[in-house]
Amino acid sequence: MPEPLGLFGGTFDPVHFGHLRLAEESISHLGLSGVRWIPAGQPPHRNQPDVTARQRLEMVLRSTEKNERFSVDASEVEAAAPSYTVRTLERLRAELGSDYPLVLLVGADAFAGLTTWHRWRDIFALAHIAVSHRPGFPVEISSLPNELATEFNDRRLSNASALKDAPAGGVVTFAMTQLAISATQIRKLLANGLSARYLLPDSVLDYIQAHQLYRNRL
Ligand code: ATP
Repeated sequence: MPEPLGLFGGTFDPVHFGHLRLAEESISHLGLSGVRWIPAGQPPHRNQPDVTARQRLEMVLRSTEKNERFSVDASEVEAAAPSYTVRTLERLRAELGSDYPLVLLVGADAFAGLTTWHRWRDIFALAHIAVSHRPGFPVEISSLPNELATEFNDRRLSNASALKDAPAGGVVTFAMTQLAISATQIRKLLANGLSARYLLPDSVLDYIQAHQLYRNRL
């Protein structure tokens, strides 16, 4: 079987070093061939942002362009319908075939909310899930809703090397460098006229400044 491919969805509003290190470290920790970034179009869980999906996509493109292991999938941004992860995974399955190991990358906070995702149980048939540690969001069974705790227990792989042995269905955790950076924090800093430098790449900050983004929005 080929090396597993990482899939990293998010709003990336804007993309920051927490995202970039998660993707970078997942490659070595999980033995991935690379990471496909999938910026959300109209996120089902959030209000429609003022910064357009195209602008969020552009910032992801800028921040990932020099990394040959990263690729960017614009399909959710280009789709007219709301983007549900399960649908994107179904599309990728059709594209890559049923045997290809796929690993959905999520932070601990996103994983804890998984039961609110559209057809969340179907996701396990389509991909593995790798949960990264994130400051403030411990990966603990006791902090998960019961239904998810059960899945987590039953599906947990003791070693990430097992990800390549099946196309989907396992759950692993991995400890990335802990960076207490969030897009919310960056939006607040920028809306208050404060510096967000060194929390995200200069190329993204330059784009934000050139397009006067996040001036009035928290
Ligand atoms: P917001 O503050 O707007 O909610 P965010 O910083 O959490 O945004 P998202 O685009 O919502 O960013 O996150 C995409 C994915 O990256 C999610 O799975 C999230 O858990 C993960 N993630 C974001 N920031 C970090 C971080 N600092 N460390 C680990 N994982 C992170």
